[in-house]
Amino acid sequence: MNTPTSRQGSRSRWREQREHGSGGCDTARGCRRGSGLSDWAAKAAERVSAARQATESRGETFYPGPSRNHLAAFPPKERWDNWTELDSRCWPERREHSYMLVPTTCFNCESACGLLAYVDRGTLQIKKFEGNPEHPGSRGRNCAKGPATLNQVVDPDRVLHPLKRAGERGEGKWERVAWEDALTDIAGRIATAIREDRRDEVMYHVGRPGEDGFTERIMAAWGVDGHNSHTNICSSGARAGYQFWMGMDRPSPDHANAAAILLVSSHLEAGHYFNPHAQRIMDGVKRGAKLIVMDTRLSNTATHADQWLATQPGSEAAVLLSFVNHLLQTGSWDRDFVRKWFNWEQYLAAEHPDSPREFAAFEHHLKGLYAHCTFAWAERESGVSERRLAEAADMIARAGSRLSTHTWRSAASGNEGGWQVARTLFFLNALTGSIAVPGGTYPSAWNKFVPRPIRLPRHPEHWNELTWPREFPLTMYETSYLLPHFLNEGRGRLDVYFTRVYNPVWTNPDGFQWIEALTDPDKVGLHVALTPTWNETAYFADYVLPMGHGPERHDVHSYETHDGQWIGFRQPVLRAARQRLGQETGDSRHTNPGEVWEENEFWLELSWRIDPTGDLGIRQFVESEERPGSRLTADEYYKWMFKNSVPGLADRAAAEDLSPLEYMRRYGAFEIKRGVGPLYAQDVPEPELADVSVDEFGRVYTAAPAPAALNMVPVGMPDADEDGRRPVGVVIDGVVKRGFPTPSGKLEFYSPTLAAWGWPEHALPGYIRSHVHPGAMEPDQKCLISTFRLPVQIHTRSANSKWLDEIAHTNPLWLHPRDAGPLGVRTGDLVRVETEIGHFVLKAWVTEGIKPGVVACSHHMGRWKLAGGPGRGALTAEASLRRDKARWSLSREKGGGPWDSSDPDTSRIWWRDVGVHQNLTFPVHPDPISGMHCWHQAVRVTKAGRGDRAGDISVDAEASRRVFREWMARTRGAGQHSPDGTRRPHWLIRPVRPVESAYRLPADRNGTR
Ligand code: SF4
Repeated sequence: MNTPTSRQGSRSRWREQREHGSGGCDTARGCRRGSGLSDWAAKAAERVSAARQATESRGETFYPGPSRNHLAAFPPKERWDNWTELDSRCWPERREHSYMLVPTTCFNCESACGLLAYVDRGTLQIKKFEGNPEHPGSRGRNCAKGPATLNQVVDPDRVLHPLKRAGERGEGKWERVAWEDALTDIAGRIATAIREDRRDEVMYHVGRPGEDGFTERIMAAWGVDGHNSHTNICSSGARAGYQFWMGMDRPSPDHANAAAILLVSSHLEAGHYFNPHAQRIMDGVKRGAKLIVMDTRLSNTATHADQWLATQPGSEAAVLLSFVNHLLQTGSWDRDFVRKWFNWEQYLAAEHPDSPREFAAFEHHLKGLYAHCTFAWAERESGVSERRLAEAADMIARAGSRLSTHTWRSAASGNEGGWQVARTLFFLNALTGSIAVPGGTYPSAWNKFVPRPIRLPRHPEHWNELTWPREFPLTMYETSYLLPHFLNEGRGRLDVYFTRVYNPVWTNPDGFQWIEALTDPDKVGLHVALTPTWNETAYFADYVLPMGHGPERHDVHSYETHDGQWIGFRQPVLRAARQRLGQETGDSRHTNPGEVWEENEFWLELSWRIDPTGDLGIRQFVESEERPGSRLTADEYYKWMFKNSVPGLADRAAAEDLSPLEYMRRYGAFEIKRGVGPLYAQDVPEPELADVSVDEFGRVYTAAPAPAALNMVPVGMPDADEDGRRPVGVVIDGVVKRGFPTPSGKLEFYSPTLAAWGWPEHALPGYIRSHVHPGAMEPDQKCLISTFRLPVQIHTRSANSKWLDEIAHTNPLWLHPRDAGPLGVRTGDLVRVETEIGHFVLKAWVTEGIKPGVVACSHHMGRWKLAGGPGRGALTAEASLRRDKARWSLSREKGGGPWDSSDPDTSRIWWRDVGVHQNLTFPVHPDPISGMHCWHQAVRVTKAGRGDRAGDISVDAEASRRVFREWMARTRGAGQHSPDGTRRPHWLIRPVRPVESAYRLPADRNGTR
């Protein structure tokens, strides 16, 4: 392939990647300088190897902590109170620095890798961040964004004080306000809304949660169904595919022990649980695993693949079904596993009632169902040759049960019907029995742990149709990005609306609809932006309240990084450092910069003020147990949690003469279990089998009360039915096994839920042609991929990390030479991209790293601020916003560039091109089943005209509303299709689950709009 790499020297490739944001440091290979190891490095490697052998010969691991990764670079934890390093900038002078090492977790993506803050013992300032070897998920390693947390802490552009709007919304005028005044105002409005039973007018909208349920429980304590997340623009598609199979909405692949690793998109460099998974993928590859990557774009991950399958966007499920067919036709599947664990009897009963209820009959139908999914058929859909598909299929077949797979976002979130990508991908695991076995793929919920909190509020009694509209009974999480359209249709209003680490004007599609809603006080009464940094949404807020970055806040979390269970603890490190020195500390504001607060304490205090007398029933959930009559503190909250609900932690802490909270403050993470294994195959113990009944498909129910739920976050246990009977297991070969948390207790190859709720044609894993299938586009249109990440950026907050911004700061349009040639476009030329509702203008990058007929643009860039408004940043252009009736436009007045601040580096910014905000020109595309916004766009690309300037945006808001209505017309609402008069199947995951009665559709409405 004639890539830029082969055409040009390595120096120009580096420069081009830096200019075009195509790479950055290749984490998996590590940064290599020079042509090989120097003598010094070789000797150092020998020393490390010898030390490792000596250590291992004593039966010890090299680093005696959970990382077990044999790296010598970590300071021994015994010396974390006083660790001395030489100042590298003073060489050859030996200038020593003395640090206290305080753990926290990174907040720059959802992986929550461990960080160690190096706190200068003299100044008590954070000097740097490195990896935390005590963290079982990240094992001492980080991507570039972890250490760059330091940039965010000292960012001269960050929000340091509570601010209140002083002019019109969006006018850019702000005044400082005391926390006291802001809290009193906001709490008063919420209390009034609750007293007047306008509970649906209170909403909390979260981007990156970074925690396990704290704020969900606050919403529940308020009695509001007001939790809204960004999930429908992120991962609903993949979640739906997994949930319909196994009752859990994420995979936990065991890449390190796999024989074949199959990734749909670039998980090695930028995917879900990026660094923890990336290092385990490389562990697996080093042990001989074959790496198969399906990605239309030549990602860094694809460059590492044994098989890079550059599929036509939207064809991924077709390719996966051709692998399924290959396994079936060649007998490369685990027949006994399928016999035991597929709900094939339900399938036969529903689809082939005249067939004998025997596995042989199912096997016959199964092979026939997918017989048309040949490699030739998949080639026609995907554009990948039969030969390449056959090679990849053979790798999968040879892997047997050691097949780890993963998809997240990417194809599942780009296409209508994208949820079937996850469903067909997991089909391969289900067929090969590679579920919850070494080298296979585990269900998410079994590889994480959610500790019980001190207070567990009741379920809300309300159902908010602004976030859970009845058109989408099967949606995975809230239909968040449709909110401005719903407000515009008059479905409701918001009196108090929180955005928290969320920037919908910039992140979501259809940003002008958000600006319209956020500037209309009849739609949004009070908008409170909780954010560490300025952003395009905060400009339109009434309050901007400064929240902490990763080292300035408390959170607890646990993620499915491998087959194990751990919890991580984020904490305000300077506060923890002072505590370690025996100093008195107040709340996190006393040690954070300016008046920056952490959210835990903010929510506790706000709740306390909403209900000062307790008559609303809220106060009890935020009241101290140790000091009745006082508000709960973060210290007491986590002290109780770590002492009472984390198995093994108290003993482990006691062994070091620490309390559980002291242990977590000192080490930042705790490994609960290593190797969870196949929980579905466990026998249900006899005491749990009292008063049971069994249905015709072997599902076992009990009338015995359920064990106390850990908390409100679903952990994969099914609920009781209306008669109070609770599924407790499933009969497999005469023995009651735990099974899966699905209605049948088995893997639902056939989904009775989809069939019963109006989608019988999609009840089986299948292929839905995307809205950007070539047959659905005009001949002059191309598919635009807008979802891919750059390895060194996330969403809004990484723009305030100067190191990251220098590496990647723009997002040109990836264009294949075969497409660029006829347009007369070369790298650096401006092109205009027309969507259904408008257009944007940006530079082109002509590259063979993208499939012909497809264009791509990364989603991080194009940050803007209005002239005269606050905020600056290294990635922010100044823009002017205009509205002419329904026509909105955004024009760049000034690109990025140097600026004066307390940090001399801001005067050294050498780039001006900060990319384009393409998402403004995308209409909403709600998938009618998963609710996922289908990101891919059918676009026309032309050379820019004379009047076009880089960064230009133009959108017809009427057209966007028309597209919204067109997609809404494809839904099949609960009003017409609910089989039981409820709004949503109760077994499907839902944050802040309301009481049972709220699930029932109101009797006086027919459920259609
Ligand atoms: S993968 Fe990188 S950004 Fe994400 S938590 Fe880990 S270090 Fe931070």
